[in-house]
Parts: sequence; structure tokens; C-alpha cells
Amino acid sequence: MPASVSASRAATGGRPYHIRLNKTVGAGPRACPGPGRRSRASTVRSTASHWRVGSFAALLGLVLITGCLPAPMPSPTTPLPTALLSTPTATATATLTVTPLPSPTPTPTLSPTPLPLEATVSLEPPEVMQGHTCIVRATTNLPSRVVGRIRERPVSFVSEDGLSHVGLAGLRATDEPGELTLEMDVLADDGQRAQLTRALTVMDAGYRQETITLTPAVGALLDPAITQPELLRLAPIYALATSVIHWEGPFDWPFEGPITSQFGTRRRYSTGLVSYHTGLDIDGETGDVIVAPAKGIVVLADMLQVRGGAVILDHGAGVLSGYYHLSEVDVEVGQTLERGAPLGKMGATGVVTGSHLHWELRVNGVAVNPIEWTERAFR
Ligand SMILES: [Zn+2]
Repeated sequence: MPASVSASRAATGGRPYHIRLNKTVGAGPRACPGPGRRSRASTVRSTASHWRVGSFAALLGLVLITGCLPAPMPSPTTPLPTALLSTPTATATATLTVTPLPSPTPTPTLSPTPLPLEATVSLEPPEVMQGHTCIVRATTNLPSRVVGRIRERPVSFVSEDGLSHVGLAGLRATDEPGELTLEMDVLADDGQRAQLTRALTVMDAGYRQETITLTPAVGALLDPAITQPELLRLAPIYALATSVIHWEGPFDWPFEGPITSQFGTRRRYSTGLVSYHTGLDIDGETGDVIVAPAKGIVVLADMLQVRGGAVILDHGAGVLSGYYHLSEVDVEVGQTLERGAPLGKMGATGVVTGSHLHWELRVNGVAVNPIEWTERAFR
């Protein structure tokens, strides 16, 4: 249960809160010299005392006459002048036959033999503490998609090139120490499929127990008639798994203060309910500014009965973070927050015993210890 405790504080007492829902041209036929030039050549040939000149002139005349010969017929492959094609003479009609170019002989192609699908998987680390997160790296030789699960819990994978895939497997604080099996389906773009399994060792994290005494008014909020609808509303949000990773490096702290209740602590409430702590409680004063510990998109910004003033950020790849019991919600759904951007103010709303921030981190819906995410880069 998300209820939080601040042992050093008096019951409830946060100031009244409010929510701000801010809101190419070919040459034509060769031209022929006119009759005047041929006549001048004849005049030069008749002068007997200049036989050399005459011979030259005869030669020139021959050249000029030769120059009047019809231009060579275009070969069938040369584009024909439009005029000749549209008004063919008798000669043209006989010879202007456009022979279609032979179509190129198709080159025989060999159908490629498909490569068999191969995949390798590594776990970082292969031994994981209860409530901690394991990076699953899968490599495929063909463009593929990978989906995984631990028991019935999904492990989503993201990939930029279809060949290197990163998945995050979160262990529950209540997973029994021993072995768990991670199952993966590899679906290649060419239709081939492969299945892989890896054993994952769960180690005891030694979570403690605590008893929480609630005032009757606050304890009444733990009635399933109130808690269940809120859980049903949050379930599809926690299950979001987009195929991008928005964060870089380890997460920052959303607020720096004393930790008054660790993640994973087994809880017995004065109402008789037995549960465990799904987040981390950080002590502070109502009004203290809470910031985004990593880039994320606001997917919930509202006042809830149990969790009070609430903001949930989607960091991609199935990783979401929640900030509860806020006195003021300063963001709207759909906003992208960069690392360090304010999202709201600390408060004592919902099921609480005093002002504090309940910081929760979900990996494919599983609540995991946020502290590990401040110490390690999960990508
Ligand atoms: Zn808490």
C-alpha cells in the first residue's frame, strides 16, 4: 500500500492544499548552300592562266557539292526529327521504320537462402535482490522484436536498430528468494521465431517490518471500497510501456531529505491490514519543491483519496515514477518535464501521518526500489 509514515510527525496536519490544473536538343537536318555559291565556283574554273587555282576551285566545288548531299539517314536508334515523322516524304516512308530496341535479357537472380535466426541474452546482474531491477540485453542477427515475461509479468524491450534489445525486469519486494525464469520470444521481421529462457536468482533483501498507527479518519481511507477504484485507475498507467528511453544516466533525487520509511518494508496497519511499502518516504515540510529526477512525460496529475496530490511521470520503456501526498500539483498531463523541472510541492494529503514525499518507481508495473535507480544507469 502506498500509505506513508513519518514517525517523527504528528498525525495529519498538512495545510489545506489546492491543485493547479494549468493548466537536351538535337541539331536539325544539315542546311545546304544556295545556288549562288555553286555558280561562283564555275567562274573560277574557266580562267585558263590560273590552272592551279582552277584545280583548287574544282576541288572546292566538289566539296561544296558533296556538302549538298542529303544528310545521312538517322540510324533506327537515333531520335528522328519531329517534322520528318509527322510529314514523311515517299523516301522517308520507306526507310523511317523505328525498330524497337530489343528488351534487355533479364539477368537470372538466385533466391537468397534465409539466415537462421540467432539470439543471445545477458542479465545484468544474474543475481538480483528483491525489489531491484535487472537489465536484460538481447542481441539478434536479424531485425527482430523481443517480448519477455517473468511468470505472468511482462518484461518489455526497446531497440533502436532491431538487433540490440534492452529490457528491464523488476523484481517485487515480495518475490521469494530462489530462482525465477525469464522467458523471451524473439520475432524476426522475416517471420522466424525463437524462444529463450534464462534463470534469474532472487536474493533476500532483508526488508524490515513496521507497524503504523493511523487515526480512525485516515484509517477509514484504507477501505477497499476507496483503495480499489484508485488502484484500478492507476493500473493501466503503471502498465504503460513506450518504445523509447527518455532518461540518461542515474536518476536524481526528487527531493533531498531524511528517509523515514524504506522501500519494501513490511507494514502492519492499526486497521489490521498487512502490506508492504511500495515506495520511499522522504521527510520534508509542506511546500518544499519536488522536481523530476529524470526526463519524463506527465501521465497523471490529480488529487486522489489515498495517495493525495499525485503526479506520475512516464520515462519510457515501461518505467514510471510516482510522487504522492503533494500539497500542490504544478503540472498537467501531457507535459514533458526535463530533469530537475518542478512538478509540485510536498504535502500531507491522502493516507499519511505527516508531511513527506512518497516516491515510487515502477518497472513494467512492478514497484522497485528507487534508491537503486539513483546509483545505477539503467540503459
Ligand atoms: Zn510511502
